[in-house]
Amino acid sequence: MSKQTLPVASLGFPRIGRHRELKFALEGFWSGKIAENDLLEAATKLRAENWVLQRDQGVTRIPSNDFSLYDHVLDMAVMVGAIPAAYRWKGGAVPLSIYFAMARGSQGDGHADCGHAHHGHGVPALEMTKWFDTNYHYMVPEVTEDQDFTLTSQKPVDHFLEAKALGIHTRPVVLGPVTFLKLAKARPSTFKPLDLLAKLLPVYEELFRRLAAAGADWVQVDEPILALDLTEGERHAFKVAYEALDKAAPGLKVMLATYFGALADNLAAVTALPVAGLHVDLARAPDQLDVVVQAVRADQILSIGVIDGRNVWRADLAALLERLAPVVSTRGADAVEVAASCSLLHVPIDLGQETALDADLKSWLAFATQKLGELSTLGKALAQGRDAVQEALNDASQAVAARAISPKVTDPLVQGRIAGIDESMKARASAFDARRTVQAEAIRLPLFPTTTIGSFPQTDEVRKARSAHAKGTLSYADYEAFLQEETKAAIRWQEEIGLDVLVHGEFERNDMVQYFGEQLSGFAFTQHAWVQSYGSRYVRPPIIFGDVSRPNPMTVRWWQYSQSLTDKPVKGMLTGPVTILNWSFVRDDIPRSETCRQIALAIRDEVADLEKAGAKMIQIDEAALREGLPLRHKDWRHYLDWAVESFRLCASGVADETQIHTHMCYSEFNDIISAIAAMDADVISIETSRSKMELLDAFRNFQYPNEIGPGVYDIHSPRVPEVKEMTDLLSLARKRLDDRQLWINPDCGLKTRKWEEVRPALVNMVAAAGELRRAAQ
Ligand code: GLN
Ligand code: ZN
Repeated sequence: MSKQTLPVASLGFPRIGRHRELKFALEGFWSGKIAENDLLEAATKLRAENWVLQRDQGVTRIPSNDFSLYDHVLDMAVMVGAIPAAYRWKGGAVPLSIYFAMARGSQGDGHADCGHAHHGHGVPALEMTKWFDTNYHYMVPEVTEDQDFTLTSQKPVDHFLEAKALGIHTRPVVLGPVTFLKLAKARPSTFKPLDLLAKLLPVYEELFRRLAAAGADWVQVDEPILALDLTEGERHAFKVAYEALDKAAPGLKVMLATYFGALADNLAAVTALPVAGLHVDLARAPDQLDVVVQAVRADQILSIGVIDGRNVWRADLAALLERLAPVVSTRGADAVEVAASCSLLHVPIDLGQETALDADLKSWLAFATQKLGELSTLGKALAQGRDAVQEALNDASQAVAARAISPKVTDPLVQGRIAGIDESMKARASAFDARRTVQAEAIRLPLFPTTTIGSFPQTDEVRKARSAHAKGTLSYADYEAFLQEETKAAIRWQEEIGLDVLVHGEFERNDMVQYFGEQLSGFAFTQHAWVQSYGSRYVRPPIIFGDVSRPNPMTVRWWQYSQSLTDKPVKGMLTGPVTILNWSFVRDDIPRSETCRQIALAIRDEVADLEKAGAKMIQIDEAALREGLPLRHKDWRHYLDWAVESFRLCASGVADETQIHTHMCYSEFNDIISAIAAMDADVISIETSRSKMELLDAFRNFQYPNEIGPGVYDIHSPRVPEVKEMTDLLSLARKRLDDRQLWINPDCGLKTRKWEEVRPALVNMVAAAGELRRAAQ
């Protein structure tokens, strides 16, 4: 009997539920509206739905334990007993209260989720950080030098059995031990977490034995760090780990999953491991197929991640078949699986839920459910021949062909402008020193000017008004009037407390990317296409489908209104091209750099209009520039080149007098400082309060020439800083920078804070500036 299909693998499915059931269950539980049992029941139901859905889509390697109540890295930390002492775990099963305390901080002081240890009695959450170069965030495990590990639960076994009871045989997924330790943080940082490998492995061994005993034949072990630059020592850790696991549970076959990039110089180390299967990402690294096929052992199953698990486009199935068919014929149908490139966690669940999308655009897209369908088509075609799925292949080809020539995608005007970019558009007319002089005349500011980053509290009233307007229960005129009142109050108040450079407060903005995307051509927005950002926080990233342009001014009206209320300068406030790009689903038919350049031209138009309207200062936020850094160091240069070029393109069209600000909300600059300097913003504001101004060392060592506003207080915390704390921080800053370079501002925008916190904090900040000025005289 010839096979009906090649194995079709899913590496993980979104856990949030098609109607965001997980979020609502979690929030209900946290607020005490539903009991623990109800939460767990909701989770059980979601898992069952996902298993059935995947089976029905033709998946033959269905994952279990990809589900998590909050985060899969946190799950692993809890399962192996990596629970810092502060959470007061006494051994045994870990209660949900501890799990959620690690995720969100404990409820001790009413500021449960602010995440910082230094105020109140609650326990802070673990740190959170980006999962590789995705927009998903995981909780960073913490380990001590004398860390003991122990298996506190057998969630992967339980979920395997849960699926089995439904008649579905799954392949459990676990985060691999080497990646787990590599992502963990050493407390204190006097050792390397990977040194704990020998202590951690027995826990994995025990788990693997239990999985085998429960009837699992395969386990998917995720080791995404294999897409990073690794040291010899780290590579060796894989050998140690996988030999131990093989010995512990020889009957349990390991599918070692790598994703988010090419294996490259890690390939040889990987193919030597005693693992029965290897998964590779061909969406991110299509070129690695040939070398991988060469290197993988004959006795290993090769899982080919051909369908892009990180983007929303429908695949060109016929073209993929041409790539895959030769591999299947060389290796044999028994040694190949087709899969998505990575877990589908990063894409929305079902395109079918979108009823308002443009029909053409919709026909070019595939979300998680559709992607599984694509895989199953490929699996059938590879086993039975193309005829078996001819119709599906034709549909896909037609969609791809239609997209390629659609006037909705290509805009000759944008193409013309891109072709017309020349060097002069990427540089300010004069160098910074000359600009500084004319700016100082155009905008009279005191030494140590004070300002804020842009947003003021998005209060319940602001949110309510926005959603009432969206629902149609608040008229446009009433909504506008409401926003004007909020803006006016914010301007008045900033004048009153004596800030030097004002902002309008961003009350009209839902989100710093969406607000712009909604006004740009080439962007589409969905109704239900949520993806998990972290925990119960989901986002609906815009989809950039076509050439980007700006039909009309986007922010000029609000700037004009605010400036009309005051004689103090009000900053124009824009989101930069790199940040807009990095927080969207992007086109796969042109390079990211090309889309970025188009966005830069659109923002350049806005900058020009703000200047024409009279704005003397324009801030272009690049919150996500650093996040976009490629995983491999060798790719940094290229990325930074086009990212910086895009920023310069959007910022350089103004007169010398116009002061360009930028803002970045992170605190690692050492490795990218030359790129930051190359952006040539007149003023940059950055996050520094938590690192005690240490990161200014990068700016000092580099002799950063332009002006800098090192954040003097941590906006992530509700705590109101005292004047003295800020003057102390500022004297640290003055040790590193010239007085003439220094601005005074918070770490980031204030939208997540309450007015009761913001008011006294900014009053103190202005007082701190005053003291500094007196001292400097
Ligand atoms: N201007 C934005 C704000 O203040 C910047 C936010 C950010 O950098 N994340 O909200
Ligand atoms: Zn910020």
